[in-house]
Amino acid sequence: MKILKFGGSSVADGERIRAVTAIVAGSAREDRICVVLSAMKGVTDLLISAARLAEKASDGLKPALEEIRARHFDAVRSLFPPVDQASALTPLAVMCNELEEILHGVELIRECSARTMDLVMSFGERLSCRLAVSYMAAQGHAAELVDAREIILTDERFGSAGVDFAASYERIARKLETVPGIAVIPGFIGATKGGVTTTLGRNGSDYTASIIGAGAGASLIEIWTDVDGVLSADPRLVPEAFVIPSISSEEAMELSYFGARVIHPYTMIPAVEKAIPILIRNSLNPGAPGTLIAAAETIRKDGRHPITGIASIDGISLVNIEGGGMMGIPGFAARIFSALAREGINIIMISQASSEHTICLVFRAGEGERALATLNRELAPELASKRIDRFELMRGLVIVAVIGENMHGTPGIAGRLFSALGKAGINILVIAQGSSERNISFVIEEKNETRALRTIHAEFLSGRK
Ligand code: ADP
Ligand code: ASP
Ligand code: MG
Repeated sequence: MKILKFGGSSVADGERIRAVTAIVAGSAREDRICVVLSAMKGVTDLLISAARLAEKASDGLKPALEEIRARHFDAVRSLFPPVDQASALTPLAVMCNELEEILHGVELIRECSARTMDLVMSFGERLSCRLAVSYMAAQGHAAELVDAREIILTDERFGSAGVDFAASYERIARKLETVPGIAVIPGFIGATKGGVTTTLGRNGSDYTASIIGAGAGASLIEIWTDVDGVLSADPRLVPEAFVIPSISSEEAMELSYFGARVIHPYTMIPAVEKAIPILIRNSLNPGAPGTLIAAAETIRKDGRHPITGIASIDGISLVNIEGGGMMGIPGFAARIFSALAREGINIIMISQASSEHTICLVFRAGEGERALATLNRELAPELASKRIDRFELMRGLVIVAVIGENMHGTPGIAGRLFSALGKAGINILVIAQGSSERNISFVIEEKNETRALRTIHAEFLSGRK
């Protein structure tokens, strides 16, 4: 059994769905397969903005809904001859009407909870799958829609639900046994024990594919996207970036955690657990070999550079806590972390100077202000007694991460890295290196992002096409 997952750009319109169907048909001739689809490109964003407009009872809601309808109806018109269009349109029209009613409810109560937002977002994947199944069936392929909410069991953390792996694996295996043809499953969504719709976090369809793969005991998980594989850097920022033929699961996880959107970071977890390789492929260029993501021991490492790839996350804020009074107080860091955890604020990077004179905490956009307010409350006594001198909030920053298995045990990488950045005149605000030595990450100002990525790429990865 092989899993084929197609992202939003691969199912963006009728023409792309036709190309996906050809890839699916080719694979189904060779192996038993199961297909996971994202929403059409941009549709999840449209659904979110429609819900926000409904909350404000804005006149913009109607056109937003019309756009969602039109995206799907236009695809039907380009895929089906006129005589067959009505039967393909009907189930989509029913779903769009249901969406409209839900959004009307939001409009009436002027509030869209995280739970309702998950239900609204779920329409993207459900619509694209319904459409694709109709087309595949019309082309004579035995495709069958399987609702992910029957097989992926999650907790109630709406917006980013946690998966109950054991229960989900059992349901997946049981369900897929009953599907003789090609199961087509919406990515990104699941349901609670009570059957309430949840989502797995933005970009989560990759994760769905991997959960399905693990549950089905698949031999391979193929993630079909719009680039030739995992590239050494984001191709939009570094034009010289090249496809990495193979990469370890840990490297892939770190690259994606630090912003390489090509694969969702959690995707590697079920795949590693069940030792299933992942292959990233391009639906716009199906002849390209792609990138293999597998256990570090099994991938080819010869001729590799110490660095495998680079990634960055923008919209970062940083809080510096300064003061001599923190010195040697046991439990001080613990208090900071618990206070932030109570507020649900996620720290993505920490650095403490060895003098213990400053602690630096790094947050995603929007959380910096909340973190500052929380720390001001929690550490009010220390501020009053001057054990802490001040807090400083800096916005408009990025984290850059340099990743590679081969950095481990190769001396001098950090020296080379920071002197190249120094020569380029880029000021480094914070540095962190994981003890795995697989990752060096640092914070710089947003305006330096592209220059930093290009400088590092030229220093470590040039001439490796
Ligand atoms: P999909 O809709 O198929 O899930 P995404 O848009 O989520 O696709 O991810 C693919 C995009 O990720 C690419 O088009 C590329 O612009 C971006 N990207 C960022 N970093 C990398 C990287 N290191 N390698 C490949 N693609 C990357
Ligand atoms: N449609 C969802 C999103 O846009 C999930 C995905 O595409 O992977 O985030
Ligand atoms: Mg994606």
